[in-house]
Amino acid sequence: MTTDTREEIVVHLPDGSSRTLPAGAKVADLAAAIGRRLAKDAVAGEIDGIAVDLSEPLGDGVTARILTGDSDGGRHVLRHSTAHVLAQAVTSLWPGARFAIGPAIADGFYYDFELPGGERFSEDDLARIEARMREVIAADQAFVREEHSLEEALALFAAQPYKCEIIEGVSSGAGADDELTAELAPGRGPGAGAPIVTAYRNSDAFVDLCRGPHVPSTGRLGHFKLTRVAGAYWRGDEHRQQLQRIYGTAWESEAALAEHLHRLEEAERRDHRKLGAELDLFSFPEEIGSGLAVFHPKGGLVRRVMEEYSRARHVAAGYEFVNTPHITKSELFETSGHLDWFAEGMFPPMTLDGEQKYYLKPMNCPFHILVFRSRQRSYRELPMRLFEFGSVYRYEKSGVVHGLTRVRGMTQDDAHIFCTREQMDEELDSLLDFVLGLLRDFGLEDFYLELSTRPEGKAVGSDEEWQVATEALRTVALSKGLELVLDEGGGAFYGPKISVQARDAIGRTWQMSTIQVDLQLPQRFELSYVGADNTRHRPVMIHRALFGSVERFFAVLLEHYAGAFPTWLAPVQAVVLPVRDAHEELAGSVRTRLRDAGVRAEVDGASEPLGSRIRRGKLEKVPYVLVVGDDDLAAGTVGVNTRGAAAPERGVPVDELVARLRADAAPPAGR
Ligand SMILES: [Zn+2]
Ligand SMILES: [Zn+2]
Repeated sequence: MTTDTREEIVVHLPDGSSRTLPAGAKVADLAAAIGRRLAKDAVAGEIDGIAVDLSEPLGDGVTARILTGDSDGGRHVLRHSTAHVLAQAVTSLWPGARFAIGPAIADGFYYDFELPGGERFSEDDLARIEARMREVIAADQAFVREEHSLEEALALFAAQPYKCEIIEGVSSGAGADDELTAELAPGRGPGAGAPIVTAYRNSDAFVDLCRGPHVPSTGRLGHFKLTRVAGAYWRGDEHRQQLQRIYGTAWESEAALAEHLHRLEEAERRDHRKLGAELDLFSFPEEIGSGLAVFHPKGGLVRRVMEEYSRARHVAAGYEFVNTPHITKSELFETSGHLDWFAEGMFPPMTLDGEQKYYLKPMNCPFHILVFRSRQRSYRELPMRLFEFGSVYRYEKSGVVHGLTRVRGMTQDDAHIFCTREQMDEELDSLLDFVLGLLRDFGLEDFYLELSTRPEGKAVGSDEEWQVATEALRTVALSKGLELVLDEGGGAFYGPKISVQARDAIGRTWQMSTIQVDLQLPQRFELSYVGADNTRHRPVMIHRALFGSVERFFAVLLEHYAGAFPTWLAPVQAVVLPVRDAHEELAGSVRTRLRDAGVRAEVDGASEPLGSRIRRGKLEKVPYVLVVGDDDLAAGTVGVNTRGAAAPERGVPVDELVARLRADAAPPAGR
């Protein structure tokens, strides 16, 4: 043994260091060489950027990484491995069940099935399936990788037509679908070339077509839960078989699983669609159509306060207000390029006056451009900041329409800034401050920024222009001291963008404001201004929506606050409850005092018991529930139930109450 010291390999680690291991060492051996703890936490590895099993041999000179269960890559392996166990459990409980694909997804996994005789899963079946999965996990079966020729693989999966279709698709070079090709890989390692099909077997009873990797054995799994059943078409094609999809979630520990389930519960409790109905804020009438909301008086009031606040801040920041129509002749969107690049997101055209096509606008940009272009502009007018609450319409597929967050009709708080190249950096800088300041006023505090760059094959403009615009955004983003994440290829067709991502009260991330630099539309529309040198120059255009859309921002705030809007946004800020009829007059005068002070106050009369009226006030999440009774009549005081306070205060003088609520009801900038 000692004679053959050349039989060693060197493996590089992501931190730049390297390890020398005996030839033939596997990924698991590398983990063990680094540390006992790592060996225990490892679920898979990566060799030269490709995820592999812990049992994969390392080559000389490769770069390898160990994936632990608490990393994104590690969780992916845990989740996908759990999906195998799900398929194993279902095929053992329903002999003859067919299984299609079972990938890991964000926070979990799914697997698609077709049961014999068209049987349907019920929600109760999930507990049975989970129990069977736990038996498989307790048996600690190894995931063993097998390699087969195409013919062998087709024979192995002869009873599984979906698997055969995947195998045949790959052998014929079809199947560009990531999800499907992820199921198997052409040969790798020595002898690569002839297509081989890999499968993973974790008992005599179960084998699945897959390229891996997986955890070494089922005993490494267990912190999972099946969450729901849904319908899904094979290959996402509505003309093909309808399958049943079981969703689940899996984590590296019981604590991580519990935390995730708690987040899900919280998200459900905060669901804006549910709160919108409970608090009587908005609805989606069948008669109007999918993704088109109507706001009820209370929702309309919140919305008006949001918009008024935004308007005031925009006036202060030097914006000018414009108004533009909802429809336009097609030529405008031909010039802008929207019909080339965005047509599938637009409603189909209406043909009027013979041949003329009109479109509902999906964006306000070209309209604001026409305002700029309506006469000759001088450098003295720049930067010109044009603002509009502009209603736009986008054709979203019915499957993706979701409450107020994904709608077909919405109102953007949209602005377009026209400035000189020299003004661009400073304008972007003050703009980002303005955006972050306004979001903070609405109670969002925790941000990071995302920089979206050129979408390959879906962009107009030269490399140099994209470079200039992208660097300008990067510089300003970095200067804010916030985390900056790169979204490679995520920009719009006409320019790169920064988006502000906000984390809400339960740690979810929402994309909020976007700021885009556009060097294209000014060219397409041949915009110019006359400079100090008396010659014509091309302005830079900056697109920015701050709420994104009013509807979506409304939904985000509703979920962030779980319906308990801060006082300045609450539709009803105080409700006054007379204990008995004898106190109605006092209640009325307290309400009047409050209204005079600018507080949205109402009286809930004594026709119902006090207890149920207090409960109603709390259910409606009114910030102040005020009670007036005998003692108050004599002393000129009020009982105050402040939302979220442990106990009511008694005998608060009316003057003091009015001063307090006046201050609390004022919008942030007025304080
Ligand atoms: Zn697999
Ligand atoms: Zn725009």
